[in-house]
Amino acid sequence: MTAASQSIFNWSPETPSHLFYQTGGRRPFIARAEGVYIWDHQGRRFLDGSSGAMVSNIGHGNTRVLDAMRAQMNTTTFGYRLHFENEPAERLASALSSLSPKGLDRVFFASGGSEAVESCIKLARQYAIAKGETKRTQVISRFPSYHGSTFGALAVTGYGPLNDPFAPMIREMPKIPAPTAYLDRDNLSDEARGHRYADMLRDKIEEIGAENALAFIMEPIGGASTGALVAPDSYYQRVRDICDDYGVLLIYDEVMTGVGRTGTFLAAEHWNQSPDIIALSKGLGAGYIPLGAMIARRDIVEAVVASGGFMHGYTYAGNPLACAAGLAVIREIFDADLMTNTARIGALLKSRLEGLMAEFPFIGDVRGKGLLLAFEIVGNRETMAPLPKEQNAFAKLVEYAYEEQLIVYSRRTRGGYEGDHFLVCPPMVTDETHVDEIIDKLTKSLRRLTAELKL
Ligand code: PLP
Repeated sequence: MTAASQSIFNWSPETPSHLFYQTGGRRPFIARAEGVYIWDHQGRRFLDGSSGAMVSNIGHGNTRVLDAMRAQMNTTTFGYRLHFENEPAERLASALSSLSPKGLDRVFFASGGSEAVESCIKLARQYAIAKGETKRTQVISRFPSYHGSTFGALAVTGYGPLNDPFAPMIREMPKIPAPTAYLDRDNLSDEARGHRYADMLRDKIEEIGAENALAFIMEPIGGASTGALVAPDSYYQRVRDICDDYGVLLIYDEVMTGVGRTGTFLAAEHWNQSPDIIALSKGLGAGYIPLGAMIARRDIVEAVVASGGFMHGYTYAGNPLACAAGLAVIREIFDADLMTNTARIGALLKSRLEGLMAEFPFIGDVRGKGLLLAFEIVGNRETMAPLPKEQNAFAKLVEYAYEEQLIVYSRRTRGGYEGDHFLVCPPMVTDETHVDEIIDKLTKSLRRLTAELKL
């Protein structure tokens, strides 16, 4: 190596960063991670109360997953899909088919959630063309929602700040309100309320014309967009029925909810639902490798293949290393019975979060399933009016928790107007002592916030 080329690699922690961050702030360097904990370069230990961005589902540093990856690396890490099949991809596709609703047994790999969502939209469109329904181009989604940051995923994402700069460049897709039933102040039964939100889909399809309606995409439990928002039970089947009535494909974006996060492999299982196409990512690679997948109804894929093939693909899709990691992650979930733990610890954590409502009257709602949980801070619990934005509660609480060495995840958005919700989504290996630690650190952070809030 020449002296000149050596200088390319000169770096120390004091070197000014050449990265740029959305948030502007520079965080400590991550040094190592194990289970639910992450250590920084100064040796401080953080409890990962959000599994990163709801990614590290099986916890950090799992040796069985790392060993499986090493074993794969000893053979090959990449074989281009047009030149070679690879066994890990076949095995993972087979496992995912077994874990999906009947009839959904065709798998297409990607390297992340946005890529998986793009794949779903493109498959739906090509299916419509294959059936001769060429006018179907509109993918209805919800507001707020988050489906990714690439252009296609953005077109169906309902989250103003992310969409606005690009609005003139993309074809905005029709939106209906997310089922923010917890904000309603009327006397409807839960069942009627679920139907009311689902019927907004029917109204939207009628408005745009069924012949133009391609698909409806939804997060079965809202993620960062709505903070673990669960719809009333009656919503799910009604949405399915409406899609069937109008020949509209139902896409479940399970990028955050999938792979055990809510206590079942897919969140769809809570309502016995069978969407037509499913997007997965996050927990599939679980922080060990970038990985995403689309799982689709066999007849949809067969029609598209028969009509000339799926006009879509990614260089890294289905690479052996990523698939070996994904397979080891799923194996770990079953071997360590992590879904049972998620349901059990999730229920405990949720009840402990609800317990905080007694001391902190500004906690307006606690919600979620399994270990996809959130609480929302409001200005008034009776009216559920949000705190004024100027109070900056969401950023403050995240920082106070960070100083307590607890990581929580926050976004400021809520049906139609803004609110402060905090996702508490530790890894599926969380135990009772971790729950105590989370609640203890959160209580200290909330007390600090109490002293600052003007209610
Ligand atoms: N869909 C949902 C529901 C998500 O939560 C996310 C990411 O947060 C995405 C899609 C996009 O995934 P990625 O950031 O891996 O592209």
